[in-house]
Amino acid sequence: MKPSRYTRSTMSSSQVQIAQQVVESILAQKLSPGERLGEQELAELFGVSRTLVREALMQLQARGFVEVRTRKGWYVVEPSVEEARDAFSARRIIEGGILREAGRPLQSVLHRLRDHIAQEEQAIEEADAATRAFLLADFHVCLAECLGQRLLCDVLRDLTARTTLAASLYQSKHDAGQSCAEHAAIVAALEQGQLESARELMLTHIGSVEAALGSSAPDTAAGGERLRAALTQLARPPLRKIS
Ligand SMILES: [Zn+2]
Repeated sequence: MKPSRYTRSTMSSSQVQIAQQVVESILAQKLSPGERLGEQELAELFGVSRTLVREALMQLQARGFVEVRTRKGWYVVEPSVEEARDAFSARRIIEGGILREAGRPLQSVLHRLRDHIAQEEQAIEEADAATRAFLLADFHVCLAECLGQRLLCDVLRDLTARTTLAASLYQSKHDAGQSCAEHAAIVAALEQGQLESARELMLTHIGSVEAALGSSAPDTAAGGERLRAALTQLARPPLRKIS
């Protein structure tokens, strides 16, 4: 078996952990829409059987992240424009709802949120594309968790991964610095106990991310097959510029 930096820590990988790793790689934009997910490569990467990998892929298929193409194998989905709009709409409803239900956050919660913003800023400065993409998406999951909506964290992680795929596919022009500044403004409003303002800022933020999507995918036919194997993608993230 080819050694990889994931092998040791995932010796007892369950399909749940494999599925989670794939979703996190989508959030970090290390896996792109239309990317092929080879069963054998994934099995070697995670140090598990192909059966376990297939179970993980079936779980991801049920969650709408991967699809089977006849005689070709597993691929990361390429969301249609309508599916992308649906995902943004769902996020607005859920994230707006979370903030509507929220009380004034505790100091410990505000500390954690400020710490998250600081990590985002650092990732933007250091131009680490994967960490930056992951942290910017994770802010929304972190906020749900901080505001005590643990059940909705999983829902939001999936929805955010969907909008991340859409942002990759439709070549979002949204700027990472702008996202981070908008996150900071939301946290500042929470800090001042201005919950309604925080909710409005969140809805504007999600709207501006959605508005930054291009209206059509660049070339979906070419998006189907990528030269880089999914294995390489997961093990060594490319230094690709994202915005
Ligand atoms: Zn955001």
